[in-house]
Amino acid sequence: SQTDRELLYKIHEVANNFYQEQMRETEEGQIIGFAYFKERELRDDIIKKFQLGYSPEQRDAFTEYALEKGYNKEILEKSGLSIFPEYAEKGVDRFRERVMFPILSFSGRVLGFGARILKNNVKAAKYLNSPETEIYHKSKVLYGLSQSKQAISKENLCLLTEGYMDVIALHQVGIENVVASSGTALTNDQIKLIKRLTENVTILFDGDAAGIKASFRSIDLLLAEGMNIRILLFPDGDDPDSFSRKHPKDFVENFIKTEAQDFVEFKADILLEEAGNDLTKQIAAIKSIVESLSYYSELKKDFYFTRISKRFGISEKSLFNEMALLKQKKV
Ligand code: ATP
Ligand code: MN
Ligand code: MN
Ligand code: MN
Repeated sequence: SQTDRELLYKIHEVANNFYQEQMRETEEGQIIGFAYFKERELRDDIIKKFQLGYSPEQRDAFTEYALEKGYNKEILEKSGLSIFPEYAEKGVDRFRERVMFPILSFSGRVLGFGARILKNNVKAAKYLNSPETEIYHKSKVLYGLSQSKQAISKENLCLLTEGYMDVIALHQVGIENVVASSGTALTNDQIKLIKRLTENVTILFDGDAAGIKASFRSIDLLLAEGMNIRILLFPDGDDPDSFSRKHPKDFVENFIKTEAQDFVEFKADILLEEAGNDLTKQIAAIKSIVESLSYYSELKKDFYFTRISKRFGISEKSLFNEMALLKQKKV
């Protein structure tokens, strides 16, 4: 309901202040939380800009604080910030002993949190996120949009990364037109958010190459919206965060500009290389490439058909035929 939503916004604002205070004003927060961000070489102004915080070890630190402030059990549970197990007498915090990344709406209201564990290689999930609530819908937000929207408009380009730290690290080197889908495949709602600001997207993938093929579907969604998509794979297991800490800003900017490849070319490279000499796979690859191209303007199609036919030794005529078949299927 409307009142619930208002309360949920309020409680997230309270939580956001709480986690930031815990990091700045407690010894535990300094030694564990702040130290973690320092180890990752984040500057103070960037920590403030992204409102980063720390959730303490105590099982019910936030829950207790919020109850004292007058929020009731019901709304705390709805917020996803507290959990009230049936067997337990008291509620517990969802986020404990993690560094906190508030997830903001377009206009800057706190909708939920991402929370990172402090040590790698432990059994728990590296990132824990808020559950779906009345105000937080994972598929409808882009991390960093609130801090990046002006730069995206100004540059007329949106860089799309995988993770929280990628957005933050790029801001730190002065590249501010960047958002993250936070580990999920891009959705239509997220695309619409970007399209309000620009039609140009450069996707910056982690160099681990995981999920590249899985992402092709969601990239076709972007093409269907008429967006111009370029794509860049970082080298040797780097992601935008690690890469931007190894190189100066100008180099990173230039790297993104010059190394980003047109999406369809990128896709053709990957699929056709994977197909090797296997004719069936080659044909499947061509079909999939033509599918992506079907979203392009006639002029662009023409241009790509010429290139692809030269590059992969397929006649332009059969590419056009395939496209015609695809169109028939669609009506
Ligand atoms: P870091 O640099 O802090 O290790 P990362 O952003 O490079 O983090 P990736 O493993 O590349 O981490 O994952 C990209 C994004 O996917 C994360 O920022 C996070 O939003 C999401 N993610 C990763 N692991 C998990 C997980 N176990 N559960 C939920 N989301 C996750
Ligand atoms: Mn990754
Ligand atoms: Mn990564
Ligand atoms: Mn990373």
